[in-house]
Amino acid sequence: MTKKIFITRRIPEIGINRLKDRGYEVDIGKWIDPPTSKEIIKYLKYKPYDAVVTLPTDPINRDVFDVAPQAKIFANYAVGFDNIDLTEAKARGIMVTNAAGSSSYPVAEHAMALIFALSTRIVEGDRFMREGKFRGWRPELFIGEDVHGKTLGIVGTGKIGEIVASMAHKGFGMDILYYDIKRNEAIERNDSAQFVPTVEEILKRSDVVTLHVPLNDSTRHLINENHLKMMKPTALLVNTSRGGVVDEVALVRALKDKVIRGAGLDVFEFEPKLARGLSKLQNVILTPHIASARQSARDAMAISVAENIVSFFETGKALNPVY
Ligand code: NAD
Repeated sequence: MTKKIFITRRIPEIGINRLKDRGYEVDIGKWIDPPTSKEIIKYLKYKPYDAVVTLPTDPINRDVFDVAPQAKIFANYAVGFDNIDLTEAKARGIMVTNAAGSSSYPVAEHAMALIFALSTRIVEGDRFMREGKFRGWRPELFIGEDVHGKTLGIVGTGKIGEIVASMAHKGFGMDILYYDIKRNEAIERNDSAQFVPTVEEILKRSDVVTLHVPLNDSTRHLINENHLKMMKPTALLVNTSRGGVVDEVALVRALKDKVIRGAGLDVFEFEPKLARGLSKLQNVILTPHIASARQSARDAMAISVAENIVSFFETGKALNPVY
């Protein structure tokens, strides 16, 4: 029987073709904006799909699994997989895979770009120029902060955090502190990174904190109101991981009250909505979840989902199972 694959929204051809080359039948949802789980359910009723390729905005819950009982693999077109109810998937013996490692450099570069944009006040300067406010060089205009010599606290030193450590230390002379549930000997050796045993300590000691943990029960609101108060008043917070890792309402308050100096955010707790007041603040830089938005990464993600499905069907084993 020909395997039937449903991809919720269009992904690069390179991945789609890899599935078609194996003789699989591929259907693609026509949505441009993220579909709801109800819309996905409607589509899944058309055919008995054997595999589903989901996007990180697709809420995949028990109701979705109910209408696709023959789909034994859900391949997420993303590194994160917090959009999928893993407890339910596990209980039903459904394989869930991610696109591990497909966008590590782009995301690390985006985190560095946010650190630089905040420190050098590039976005504020650009806004000022476009508003016609520039009346000539002034010694005190847009005083920024050095990056070189500052302490970078990395929360989560897996694939992305490890690259950030290398870029920041070797490239820009930052001192590295890190917090993770496991030690990373490579960055200790290569980037003189120092392990700190608690998130509290890293917040107290860092000039810049960058987050690279997955969103799960252990990391939801890892950065909360109390934690923000522990940070230096001059500190910057950068989040390219998942919005829910930070209590965004508390962050708005902290930025408003100058508890910390600034924040650079690519991900949002109530995505695509922003916590009230966030977009009004001048000391924050916001990007629309684009840290991995490079063609190289999108292609790698498409190849990853395709290869996970092919491997699962042909060998019984997926390449990147998330549990
Ligand atoms: P990874 O699995 O390689 O690394 C995650 C690290 O977090 C691991 O070292 C793990 O031990 C650590 N960790 C897990 N729980 C922790 C906890 N409670 N406290 C401290 N450390 C903990 O993942 P990665 O490839 O480095 O990606 C990290 C995250 O970045 C992803 O889960 C994803 O949500 C996010 N991401 C975002 C984008 C984007 O477009 N903004 C793109 C890719 C990935």
